[in-house]
Amino acid sequence: MAASWKTSLYIKQALATLVLAVILSLLLSGLKAYDTLRTEPERIQSEFEQVLSLVEEPLAQALFRYDPGSAQQQAQGLLYHPAIEQVIILDETQTVFAQAHAETAAPVVGVAWLSNFLPSSLVVARDLHYEHMDVTLGRVILSLDRAYLAEQVIEANGQLLVQNLVKDMLLASLLSWLFYWLVTRPVKQLTWALGKIDSTHNAAMPNTFQRMHRNDELGHLDMAFRQLWERLSRALTDLDYSHQHAKAIINHAADGILVINEQHTITVANEAASQLLALPLESLAGQPLAILNMVNSERDIALLLSELAPESVMALETCFVHEQGQTPVEIRATKYCINDEFETVLLIRDLSESQAAQQQINRLSYYDPLTHLTNRTWLTIQLNKSMKSLAPGQNGALIIMDLDRFKTINDALGHDLGDQLLVHLADDLLPFMPPNVTFARIGGDEFAFLWDPIRGEASESNVTLNSFMQRVLYECSKVKVIQGHDLHTTASMGVSFYDGGEVAADTVLRQADTALYQAKENGRNTFVFFQESMLQLSSARLQIERALHRGLKENEFEVYYQPQVDVTGQLIGAEALLRWHSKELGSVPPSEFIPIAEDTGLIHEIGKWVLHQAMSDVARWRSEGLWRERWRISINVSPVQFSLFNLVEDIETALHETGLPAELVDIEITENMLMNNVERAIEKMSSIRRLGASLSVDDFGTGYSSLRYLKDLPIDRLKIDQSFARDLTADVNNEAIVRAVIAMGDALKLSVLAEGVETQIDFNCLEAMGCYTYQGYYFSRPISARQFRDYCVKQLRVKEN
Ligand code: C2E
Ligand code: CA
Ligand code: CA
Repeated sequence: MAASWKTSLYIKQALATLVLAVILSLLLSGLKAYDTLRTEPERIQSEFEQVLSLVEEPLAQALFRYDPGSAQQQAQGLLYHPAIEQVIILDETQTVFAQAHAETAAPVVGVAWLSNFLPSSLVVARDLHYEHMDVTLGRVILSLDRAYLAEQVIEANGQLLVQNLVKDMLLASLLSWLFYWLVTRPVKQLTWALGKIDSTHNAAMPNTFQRMHRNDELGHLDMAFRQLWERLSRALTDLDYSHQHAKAIINHAADGILVINEQHTITVANEAASQLLALPLESLAGQPLAILNMVNSERDIALLLSELAPESVMALETCFVHEQGQTPVEIRATKYCINDEFETVLLIRDLSESQAAQQQINRLSYYDPLTHLTNRTWLTIQLNKSMKSLAPGQNGALIIMDLDRFKTINDALGHDLGDQLLVHLADDLLPFMPPNVTFARIGGDEFAFLWDPIRGEASESNVTLNSFMQRVLYECSKVKVIQGHDLHTTASMGVSFYDGGEVAADTVLRQADTALYQAKENGRNTFVFFQESMLQLSSARLQIERALHRGLKENEFEVYYQPQVDVTGQLIGAEALLRWHSKELGSVPPSEFIPIAEDTGLIHEIGKWVLHQAMSDVARWRSEGLWRERWRISINVSPVQFSLFNLVEDIETALHETGLPAELVDIEITENMLMNNVERAIEKMSSIRRLGASLSVDDFGTGYSSLRYLKDLPIDRLKIDQSFARDLTADVNNEAIVRAVIAMGDALKLSVLAEGVETQIDFNCLEAMGCYTYQGYYFSRPISARQFRDYCVKQLRVKEN
């Protein structure tokens, strides 16, 4: 860039040099002139001493002779000297003897001004003596013209001044040219060359510059500048790289990055932040913090950020709300200071995935993967929570539900089907769960309902709980069709109340469990509220379960036989009744261990054993000629055996193994086996009949729904339940039922046997009503095989007699 001539350094220097040269020249000339002026009087003195020595003689003679005219002439003559202004000649008395005065014009101003530098009176005087006489005759005084003298000085110095001025100005110009050549021009070249430098080009200096200035200050300046430039451009490159680097890091960061200033305005934002906020990237910079539409109000965030201490970190979990919904995020804020300004950088991490993972973990640890209900862990957590949060006077209830004989279904039809049954059931029950109920699957076929809190009082008469459990029982008992099987299950439930007291969650669970066992004990398909007295029962149950396994292994079972007779007391057969002589528990009645065997599935093994044992006993007696061909051996089968296991095959096997003709066998089934699925039951019963065996319906009259199917059932006999056979004379209802059963048997051409005949009166009544076959203590208690053999022997002997 070229400097204008006005500002050009060269012009400035040239002018300054010129002005200084002129001033210096004038000053030196002035000083010279002044010096001349100062020494002028002395010079004049000496000059006029000579003049006076020329006129001394004639003037002394004129005075001696007293010739004023001659003196006057001499004085006049002196005036010819242009420097003399006045001549006065005094005699020995100091009286003017003669005098002369030159005519002088007024001096020019400059001359007059300069003459001021001369002494005010310039006078040269000499005493006049006559030759060889040492007598003073008078005195001559010359007054000099100051203006003239000044003019003389000017004349003498003026030329010098002009010469000096010209010389000095020439010198100044020469210096300026030299300055231009040595400094201005190379500086201009340097400026031009440096001006051409940019990041890529390092413009070369002209060769002349290199040659002339390589080692001088300009060369050094050039070198220093180039080195500086190199360092600067390297630093710039580094800076640019680090800027690009930072930009790339920010732009490609997986986390959202926002930088905000002290006014909480966004200054930097990256792509990830724009995606998280669902706002275009371009629109973010310059926006206030409020653009982040958080679940926490903007002011709270602003407050938190302003309270954040510099160089410290704050973490916060929140949600961004946007059109697509909400994004859970973690924001980490750090405040720092740059150039006296505080900035805050917000690192925003999308928590959707990690929350989803957390939820997945929760699902895995708190949910049952099969039914998608919560699991035992979750239930226990909820129960604990509930116990802590219950207000005084408030109660919760824990209901544990267990499917009756689920294990047996599982073993018989496979786990896959069992699983589907559980899912089916959970799906059926879910829709009517009240909001304050946690529904969980806490074990294989165990479910729980946690009421937190319950409505109404914590007692057995709580209407809400009762109707809830009725409803659940009803839903459970509905037939479920799975893989072509019609499954009928029932459920039992145990209820335990709790409050915010000291009791542990475990205790509540155990209490509900105990009540549940009691419900099983009470015949299943029901619910029971926990009572302290139940605690002993449940442990007894566990004991039985353990002892049963052992009993089966160690042959602790035995079959007893109870004779069945006709009106004349003649034997018509016997019912096989299972006895268990446990080494551990002593004799346990079937009513106690059979339900447990049914629950645990052991009934299948036990049932097969009874079939085999009873048939082999009868086969032996038959071979001994003690068992008549028309007598029947009645064998009880459990509903579980009937509906879940392949009973037909088991009977067939036992018949085959013992060699007993099927015609001698009567299978006792109960009414409620038929209720589950009539068609299926009929199919099985027909198969049993096809084998040759006959079928009796045990405990007839205690069920309620099978009467209408009775005509379609392939049965041979009805066994009137012992509860009706007793007290027939006293209880009108019993009598009515027995009469009805007998009438039904007649109509359907079924034989009818009365159980539990204990007295002569019972017997007589039954006979009077038209029932002709019996079983009961009145005839015989159930007796061991050995005793029954004797019984048979006696019967035969009586007959023979
Ligand atoms: P159940 O089939 O009704 O058997 C008749 C029950 O009545 C027997 O009880 C028998 O001892 C009892 N009993 C007979 N006559 C009288 C009487 O005059 N008065 C009274 N009070 N009771 C009388 P037990 O032997 O205790 O059997 C109870 C139940 O256990 C049986 O009822 C049956 O359901 C079941 N059970 C017995 N043995 C077997 C078995 O081998 N397999 C299966 N599945 N169940 C069996
Ligand atoms: Ca029976
Ligand atoms: Ca019975």
